[in-house]
Amino acid sequence: FPCGVIRNFSIIAHIDHGKSTLADRLLELTGTISTTLNGANKQVLDKLKVERERGITVKAQTASMVHDFEGLTYLLNLIDTPGHVDFSWEVSRSMAACQGALLLVDATQGVQAQSLSVFHTARERGLKIIPVLNKVGDWGLHEAESLIKSSKIDLPAAQPERITAQMQSTFGIDPEDVIAISAKTGANVGAVLKAIIERIPPPPGSPSEKLKAYLFDSSYDRYRGVISLVSIQDGVLHKGDKIASCYTHKKYDITDVGIMYPEEISTGQLLAGQVGYIACNMKQSSEAHIGDTLHRAGVPVEPMPGFQPAKAMVYAGIFPVDSNDFIKLEESIKRLSLTDRSITVQRESSTALGQGCRLGFLGTLHMDVFRQRLEDEYDANIIITAPTVPYKVIYKDRIAMVSNPTDFPDVGDVREKVKEVQEPVVKATIIVPEDYLGEIMDLCFSHRAEELDHSYLDATSATEASARVILTCVMPLSEIVTDFFDKLKSRSSGYASFDYEDAGYKQNNLAKMIFLLNNKPVDALALIVHRDAEQDIGKVWVNKLHKVIPRQLFEVPIQAAVGKKVVARKTLSALRADVTAGLYGGHYERKMKHLENQKEAKRKMKRVGTVDLPQEAFFEIMSSK
Ligand code: GDP
Ligand code: MG
Repeated sequence: FPCGVIRNFSIIAHIDHGKSTLADRLLELTGTISTTLNGANKQVLDKLKVERERGITVKAQTASMVHDFEGLTYLLNLIDTPGHVDFSWEVSRSMAACQGALLLVDATQGVQAQSLSVFHTARERGLKIIPVLNKVGDWGLHEAESLIKSSKIDLPAAQPERITAQMQSTFGIDPEDVIAISAKTGANVGAVLKAIIERIPPPPGSPSEKLKAYLFDSSYDRYRGVISLVSIQDGVLHKGDKIASCYTHKKYDITDVGIMYPEEISTGQLLAGQVGYIACNMKQSSEAHIGDTLHRAGVPVEPMPGFQPAKAMVYAGIFPVDSNDFIKLEESIKRLSLTDRSITVQRESSTALGQGCRLGFLGTLHMDVFRQRLEDEYDANIIITAPTVPYKVIYKDRIAMVSNPTDFPDVGDVREKVKEVQEPVVKATIIVPEDYLGEIMDLCFSHRAEELDHSYLDATSATEASARVILTCVMPLSEIVTDFFDKLKSRSSGYASFDYEDAGYKQNNLAKMIFLLNNKPVDALALIVHRDAEQDIGKVWVNKLHKVIPRQLFEVPIQAAVGKKVVARKTLSALRADVTAGLYGGHYERKMKHLENQKEAKRKMKRVGTVDLPQEAFFEIMSSK
């Protein structure tokens, strides 16, 4: 395949707007996968169990298709991208290997927060954008335009005209360029293929130049080691070639090379313009540096502009429910993080929870997904602590990044040794129907939002439906890693969409809150809080603890403290009765059974100071919001 007949593109969209469904249809239409039940959602590219279950795409996948069009045979390389805000790093990474993008917008939902962010990323990268309006024609589709005009739509809530106008006003897209489709039924998807060939430029580069390959993704295979996805910028890459990395200067032998069709198909070579996989004798995935440029050993080239490494924004401790499982858990975490390069891992130990690992994630969904993968793929029984963001503590003589509340200086130390404490802030973008604006602004303020601003998404000529508003503000990241997103969804009846980007650090009045059971601190429960909110937060957590901690043989005071100051307190009353007291008559078997049950329960207890805490209590404390 010479460059002229190659097209590299990705599908970009807000979550649930239909990327994976459209990818399936494109693969079917080109005969890459077989067509079975029309409308069935195969989601071929969503390979992970967690992706199928949650219907979200976590890891970007690549697939090649072969398509005949007007007498020529084309090679179309599709790179599917995740839609969730936590994975925007993956989105921009996959875009770097493309010349064009299908911007998919759900006709029932309209432009959403991530539609905006992915559009801007694609435009910054200079990609040709093909606007596609999805969920429009489920039946009897003849022409996209007549369909839009007659409003023949597959979902009653679809508003193709209005959404097309939105795309015009927010993205400057010519309504003539919009392709209306139904990814579900496949209606008009042929027009998308045609547009990919006609509108997206072929990749630049030439096979006769020196080899230059851009490494944009890597995964780890238990048997073959590191598998990398590359986009060949120039030259040809053959099996058996000796290559070198611009980043590490290490040399490797290519042991296998091929395309994703949609599974790996060995081709023996990749030419300029193509996208495919390589296997070489790379032992650790840390050697596959995302954004690296590979070249023929001894024939150096100018490296491509690299990538900022992914930044961990949310940290949490992961501990085994049974402390004997630590080695197994650590092994599983290590193996799983090989397939997800954006996770950072460190050891951590806690007096309450024992030996564990402290992990850094891109966001809370990322954390959730990792937890589920750990449970699914490694059968792990784990406790995950409350998430923390990385704080910057500026001491008089040094700066420390603190991603574990245990390491945060106490109030006294803050007063004496610390100049200021800064927390990460983000620029948040929320799109919401006007009716909910007041409610959502209140929510933002209660989460310490500043610099609130808003503008209208729809043209001012108000339609019968309520206009949509784009709300922007600056918020502490710590405010959105807990339950902000859930609240936003429920307070807007599910209509609000949300995205955020890094906005640096900001000084704030923050302190460490600790919890004491029977006057002994429980390290795994420590939190960093804003001083204005310490009483409220203390109360919420003390109540939560009061609810889940079983009563003991003695009274247990539960306290939340900031420095020496107790900000909230509640007492757990003592358990009086003997467990066997009710079993009068002393039926021996019954009594034994009861004592056994009690022993079983004891085994699962963690002793915190003098208080016995069942692991489920920790689990409940950590997972309740
Ligand atoms: P993604 O998150 O962008 O990958 O979205 P999916 O492809 O997983 O689709 C999200 C949901 O929308 C799924 O339940 C699909 O079945 C549904 N969907 C996708 N395309 C269409 C369409 O054209 N019409 C209708 N009615 N539903 C669709
Ligand atoms: Mg998907």
